[in-house]
Amino acid sequence: MAGITIGVAGETASGERRVALTPETCRKLVARGARVRVQRGAGRLSSFTDEAYAQAGAELVDGAAAALRDADVVLCVQSPSSPTLMSLRKGAALVGLLAPQVDAARAEAINARNLLAFPLERLPRTTRAQAMDVLSSQAGMAGYKAVLIAAQLAPRFFPMLTTAAGTIRPSKVLIVGAGVAGLQAIATAKRLGAQVEGFDVRPETREQIESLGGRFLDLGVSAAGEGGYARALTDEERAEQQRRLAEHLRNVDVIVCTAAVPGRPAPKIVTAAMVAGMRPGSVIVDLAAETGGNCELTRPGETVDSGGVTIAGPLNLASMGAVHASEMYARNVLNFVSLFVTEEASREGRLALDWDDELLAKTVWPERVAAPVAAAAT
Ligand code: NAD
Repeated sequence: MAGITIGVAGETASGERRVALTPETCRKLVARGARVRVQRGAGRLSSFTDEAYAQAGAELVDGAAAALRDADVVLCVQSPSSPTLMSLRKGAALVGLLAPQVDAARAEAINARNLLAFPLERLPRTTRAQAMDVLSSQAGMAGYKAVLIAAQLAPRFFPMLTTAAGTIRPSKVLIVGAGVAGLQAIATAKRLGAQVEGFDVRPETREQIESLGGRFLDLGVSAAGEGGYARALTDEERAEQQRRLAEHLRNVDVIVCTAAVPGRPAPKIVTAAMVAGMRPGSVIVDLAAETGGNCELTRPGETVDSGGVTIAGPLNLASMGAVHASEMYARNVLNFVSLFVTEEASREGRLALDWDDELLAKTVWPERVAAPVAAAAT
């Protein structure tokens, strides 16, 4: 049958509530002639009903296998399991946060089925790619939720209050790392009325932090790296950052950690000694727990107490805000697949893959210089 079939199954990773296609993005794909097949219940944990998908033109099917088996393009949040990948149609395009390098069986399945894998975490972060940038959209939700968790765990108010029982001073909140998640965390803590400070090793973040009403904490280290990201610090820079930070943390109530260096474990910034110097009742929420944590005492996925300081290492925070996180993720995915699922492509039953487009060429995994792949026609 000619045309392009897009398949979406429910996510299977533990704790994953998001979905890669919403009724809104489904409608847009159907409007350009694609056939969209959705596993019944795929949107349930992110509150999108089967009826809404059906009204948007999706064909609802029972079970993941039925949704994915004949798909030319498979959309997902996290990668399907390797057996599921092995059941996909040979040469199908697979779009999502695939992390192929972290699982040998997954990588092998992608290769064995000759899948056209587009791990969206590899997307170049250019201006043109902004509307497809899942790292940014999901980091925004993660930064927001991290602050709410901190506010929930803290035995204090965030805002200053003047009450008949006296004045309550505002909580002092420090955001470590002012990338996308960090800036959203600063904005959120500010809205809750806290006194907010932030720091980062990229000097341009000073202005960004200040524009959100935060104070830039200058720890005397500047380490801008390639592509707008941070580089790892030298031993001297790290020692200087730690000396100044340890002093400062004695008067901080809440720390939200968001610092990361692409492709490396999270930098250890808050040491056990620093935690020991903090006041009891302080709270640390380590959003970097996913890659090991910015705090030495963080246990990924757990909340622990160390001398009266609560340290939370929540995982997959974006999934906690599954409705909006999915809406943003699905729009990002729609914008990405629009590069090759065009109206003409749907009509001809052939993905319009332009390998001169760096967004495709640099995202595809494994890296390849590939000839256009005919995917759909049978
Ligand atoms: P990230 O998640 O890799 O890192 C989070 C933050 O941690 C970064 O700001 C980084 O500088 C900081 N950091 C690293 N080591 C640190 C240390 N030792 N101490 C303190 N802070 C440390 O980054 P991100 O949020 O994904 O994005 C970071 C950069 O990418 C920003 O410049 C952002 O503007 C840029 N970006 C560009 C686009 C685009 O143009 N399409 C999209 C998104 C992000």
